[in-house]
Amino acid sequence: TWKPVFPNAPDSDYADAVQRDKAFRALETVRQQLGQTYLPLINGKREQTETIVDSVNPSNPSEIVGKIGLISIDQAELALEAAKAAFPAWKRTPVRQRAGVLRKAAELMEQRRHELCAWMVYEVGKALHQCDAEVSEAIDFCRYYADEMERLDQGYKYDTAGETDRYHYQPRGISVVISPWNFPLAIPVGMTVASLVTGNCTLLKPAEVSSVIAAKIAEVLVDAGVPNGVFQYIPCKGSTVGSHLVKHPDVHMITFTGSQEVGSRIYAEAAVLQPGQKHLKRVIAEMGGKNAIIVDESADLDQAVAGVVYSAFGYSGQKCSACSRVVVLEPVYEAFVSRLTEAVRSLNVGDAVHPSTFVGPVIDANAQKRILEYIEIGKQEAELAIQVPAPETGYFVPPTVFVNVSPTGKIAQEEIFGPVLAVIKAPNFEEAINIANGTNFALTGGLYSRTPSHIATAKADFEVGNLYINRGITGAIVSRQPFGGFKLSGVGSKAGGPDYLLQFLEPRTITENI
Ligand code: GLU
Repeated sequence: TWKPVFPNAPDSDYADAVQRDKAFRALETVRQQLGQTYLPLINGKREQTETIVDSVNPSNPSEIVGKIGLISIDQAELALEAAKAAFPAWKRTPVRQRAGVLRKAAELMEQRRHELCAWMVYEVGKALHQCDAEVSEAIDFCRYYADEMERLDQGYKYDTAGETDRYHYQPRGISVVISPWNFPLAIPVGMTVASLVTGNCTLLKPAEVSSVIAAKIAEVLVDAGVPNGVFQYIPCKGSTVGSHLVKHPDVHMITFTGSQEVGSRIYAEAAVLQPGQKHLKRVIAEMGGKNAIIVDESADLDQAVAGVVYSAFGYSGQKCSACSRVVVLEPVYEAFVSRLTEAVRSLNVGDAVHPSTFVGPVIDANAQKRILEYIEIGKQEAELAIQVPAPETGYFVPPTVFVNVSPTGKIAQEEIFGPVLAVIKAPNFEEAINIANGTNFALTGGLYSRTPSHIATAKADFEVGNLYINRGITGAIVSRQPFGGFKLSGVGSKAGGPDYLLQFLEPRTITENI
């Protein structure tokens, strides 16, 4: 059946001097606002907290982007009480009205586009054009899930003679969203508005290092008209307060995006039935990847090099969709490696605020240390092809390519989440697919090829949630490329796709004898 194409929000066109100017001015305006304090939002009120932590600019860690109040366990209990109290009315609020809040939020983010980009540049060190695409994605999530909920709200009629049989959806209840820092706007917005539009009262616990941007999300949602208690912004320590919420008997569902370790722990903790708990929890966990791009002997190497470089080094490789392995067929291996090396050599590494920067910093000192350790392991296991110098101050890691990597090596198996790429040689296409499939993950994958039989084999046998042929493997677009994986990449269905909202809903059948 024909379906109208979802109208995705367009990105800014920085070739246009007016838009470019607005973006640069926003960087200046936001710089003046750095260092403010952001308090949690509980039942519509800003609550003072005992603990305040700094969120710093990873390009220049002496710059404090904001001070974040972290809630205590008692405050988490208050938030849960508020959510429970708000639930009956939110559940009964007509879907049109709930969808209206999302559409309003989309409009507000469009108005604040350049400002939101600037906050991301400073707080997570992401290059401007990538922040802009993220604002578009956040807007798309709002509009798409609003449409989707209106579609689902129609339910189904299975009536027969003398009997009505109706199938409809209701919300689950209290929902906790635990969001990552790498897409600090799009991912928390997507998870949160999906939860809200389906009628759940939602608590957003953002990653600590991107809590200022999450505070901006809270502003947008409040301005869009979300009632008190229906949405609450609750930065907190994951290991203590976050875990308390996950285990709490009053929580119905947890929507998480982040590492595989944390996701697996949440899955386990949420599975334990607590005293007084009258339901089993639903967990959606979007976790890691060890994504491969295969380049075969028929590939357009210019295209392949550009796609691999963008996918591996965009946002310093800190995307779960990023390319961290490239599997190259023997006949083109040498040619590909030499072109790749030259392309990587030309990458601009630096402060995310500079328009010419392609590779910014990594998120924090821990990430920097962990990635540098992987680079040391790589030097033992494989051959270093290139390492691009990076600035000394700031949490920078030199973009690094290893060649002749063994498919079973640590750097070919473990998610590094940084600007490190492993190149693996494959003797034939069948072996290339085996190597690509030979990890615990199944998130994204790519193939550069002009051989129809190879493309057909990849479609059938390349085990990933999102397969991209003859293009890069990051930057999934809402509705066009619903995003998510399987194996240890996650449980739950794809964000920005037609099944996503079903996870936030409880289906009911009502039969009436007439
Ligand atoms: N949806 C993003 C993409 O397609 C990746 C999200 C993530 O890293 O969690 O690039």
